[in-house]
Amino acid sequence: MLSSLRVVLVNTTHPGNIGGVARAMKNMGVGQLVLVQPREFPGDAAFARAAGATDILDQARVVETLDQAVAGCQLVVGASARGRHIPWPVVDPRQLAEQVAAVFANVVADVTAELPQVALVFGREDRGLTNEELHRCHRHVHIPSDPAFSSLNLAAAVQVICYELRMASLAGEKATANPQGEPEPHWGTAWDIDSASADEMERLFVHMEQVMTDIEFLNPDNPRQLMTRLRRLYMRSHLDQVEVSILRGILTATEKALKKQEGDHV
Ligand code: SAH
Repeated sequence: MLSSLRVVLVNTTHPGNIGGVARAMKNMGVGQLVLVQPREFPGDAAFARAAGATDILDQARVVETLDQAVAGCQLVVGASARGRHIPWPVVDPRQLAEQVAAVFANVVADVTAELPQVALVFGREDRGLTNEELHRCHRHVHIPSDPAFSSLNLAAAVQVICYELRMASLAGEKATANPQGEPEPHWGTAWDIDSASADEMERLFVHMEQVMTDIEFLNPDNPRQLMTRLRRLYMRSHLDQVEVSILRGILTATEKALKKQEGDHV
């Protein structure tokens, strides 16, 4: 399970923090680090703070966009220090670890299954993740810090979350806690069809936005929160690959019907 975890850092400013994150990850046995447009990397400060976790830095992948960083992931989790305007499903690190462990417990039982990939996305030191970035996540994880001083140092936040994932992995425990009374997450091999990946979801949203604009349901000049709410709906229900292709099929048929209608009116 720990080898399937990908820590994604978005626009990190201080290279020392990247080193601190690498160290925290290696302590917890989490190996994959992806950096989205870091301000300065590689650099001496990162290696100095990594204190020997240099293999993680050597193997770190540097990419241009968050989409590239989470491509292929079936679960994308955004770490956030504060609540946002539009609430999203949010868990604490222990709940997250229990949910992830439950899915991996099923995967281990099915030796033929491919390991799902999980992305843990962390934001900028000064302003965290943007709403747009948070809306690319299935759920958010919040470390229940003191609301009066809620923001942890980046490497400390990675440490706390990876620690809980490690504890759950060591215990190999099955998830039972379900504080929000929501159904267990349907992703991984517990479900009949594999989860859609982050890139498949993005293509669905682009297609949906296009068709809704064409049928004049969405006004690009005044989009309101429509895409955000639809993203939340579909990310929350954790679509599988067949469900995504059904929705894409409906969109394609809608486009065809629209073209036909336009043709009939000429
Ligand atoms: N000042 C920023 C926080 C930046 S801290 C803000 O107000 O959003 C850098 C990153 O560490 C955050 O983007 C988040 O990914 C993580 N982080 C910090 N504190 C956290 C907390 N209490 N819970 C979850 N993640 C946290």
